[in-house]
Parts: sequence; structure tokens; C-alpha cells
Amino acid sequence: MRKPIIAGNWKMYKTISQAIELANGLKRAFYDLDAEAIDIVLCPVFTALSEVNEVISGSPMQLGAQDVFWQQEGAFTGEVSPLMLKDVGCKYVIIGHSERRQYFGETNQTVNKKVKAALQNGLIPIMCVGETLKERQEEKTFEVLKDHIQNGLTGLTAQEVSDIVIAYEPVWAIGTGKNATSQQAQEAHQFIRKLLTEMFNKEIANNIRIQYGGSVKPDNIEEIMQQPDVDGALVGGASLKVDSFSDIVIRAMKVKVKK
Ligand code: PEP
Repeated sequence: MRKPIIAGNWKMYKTISQAIELANGLKRAFYDLDAEAIDIVLCPVFTALSEVNEVISGSPMQLGAQDVFWQQEGAFTGEVSPLMLKDVGCKYVIIGHSERRQYFGETNQTVNKKVKAALQNGLIPIMCVGETLKERQEEKTFEVLKDHIQNGLTGLTAQEVSDIVIAYEPVWAIGTGKNATSQQAQEAHQFIRKLLTEMFNKEIANNIRIQYGGSVKPDNIEEIMQQPDVDGALVGGASLKVDSFSDIVIRAMKVKVKK
């Protein structure tokens, strides 16, 4: 059984005081939630990591960052290392988000270096993959997923990848209000799991959690979570408010967590 995982990508929103307020609101909303049943990950901006970590300690929530560099330390102005993310309390890190691929020159090669560095430092990468609208229209979705996954995970052993999380995020669904249908999500997730079986083995592929991301909201999470290969969600816009994010988590649990 794969443990469901809902992560909130706060993107470049929230000052420190706003981040504390949101984290406190979520802490109240999840006060009686069973941390063994579901993983809830908050990924604020770098500047708010420390304060959010303090707020959520002792709650069922865990801390994640939105990016990482692959070196431990050095003359790399503006970058943050995996060692530093561990130091501030992160357990997870988002790598290869489409916004980073689109605006900051992220490639499969840099994603691969970051995934390896994160794993070497005991961080769990949430590796994002997904096609653009043009690629989907040209029926290249599976080709793109294969390219992102094979190259993003190149050089890693089955043992090393066993804990990673993959986020299938069709670029055309991110921040657009246009989510993939549950069938489209399942089709992509099933393809990814089959690919992981070929690259590693069936046991590893069956254990790796695959999240869907792209305009997830309280009113579509249940349908998406009902798909057998969907293990959770990476949530952007709807993770910025206590009500919507907590509603998503509760609804996801209703579908996946059997009492
Ligand atoms: C994201 O940022 O990863 C995302 C899926 O955003 P949204 O939920 O706003 O589409």
C-alpha cells in the first residue's frame, strides 16, 4: 500500500508573517489528523522555511523546499544546497517544476544532478514531469514523460529511487484552472509506473508514489484520487488558503485511506 501524499507548492507567495499565519491555520485544521495515514508537505519560499518549520513541528505536516542546487557549498551565488535544506528542517524538495524548466533553464541534466544530490543528503525529491499543450496536441505526451523520467533518473539504482516521489504535472493544467481529466491522469500515471518497472523493477515501481498536479481543487480531488495509480497531489494555487488545502487533504484521505 502506498501512503498518499499531498504537497502544497506555495510558489513565490507569502512573506514570513503570511507564511506563519497559513501554517498556523493548517495546524489547527489538521490537529487531530493521523500522520501515519497520509503525508502532508508544505513547500514555502526559502525565506520562510525556518519559521514554517517551527510552526509545524509536532503537527502531522512536513517541510519541503521548491528547488535545490547540487553542490554542498561553494561560490554559487544565489543557490541553496541540499545540506542547507536538511539543516533548516526539510524532508522533501520539489525538483524540475515546469516553471523552473520554462523560466530558469532547468533541463533533464540539471534535474538529474539535483535529484542525486538531494538523495545523497537524505532529502526526498518530488521530481516533476509533464508535457506542454503543444506536445499533448502532437500526441507526444508519453515521449515527453519517457524523456523526463529516463534522463531525470539516469545513473540511479533501484535502491536509490525507492523513496522518490514523481509529480505528473501537465504544463497546460498548471495555474490555468483546466485540470486533466481523471482518465488522462490515470493514463499518464499508469504509463509512468510501467516505465519505472522497465527501468528498475516491479516492486520498486509499485512502491514509488506518483502525484498528480495541475489545477487541483476541493471539487476535483476525489475523482482524481479514485484512480488506482494516483497516490496524491501537488497543489499550487489551492494550497495558499487554509480552507481549500485542508479540504483537499481531507477529501483525498476519504478516498485513499481505508479505516
Ligand atoms: C503547481 O504549482 O505545481 C501546480 C500544480 O499549480 P496549480 O495547482 O495552481 O495548477
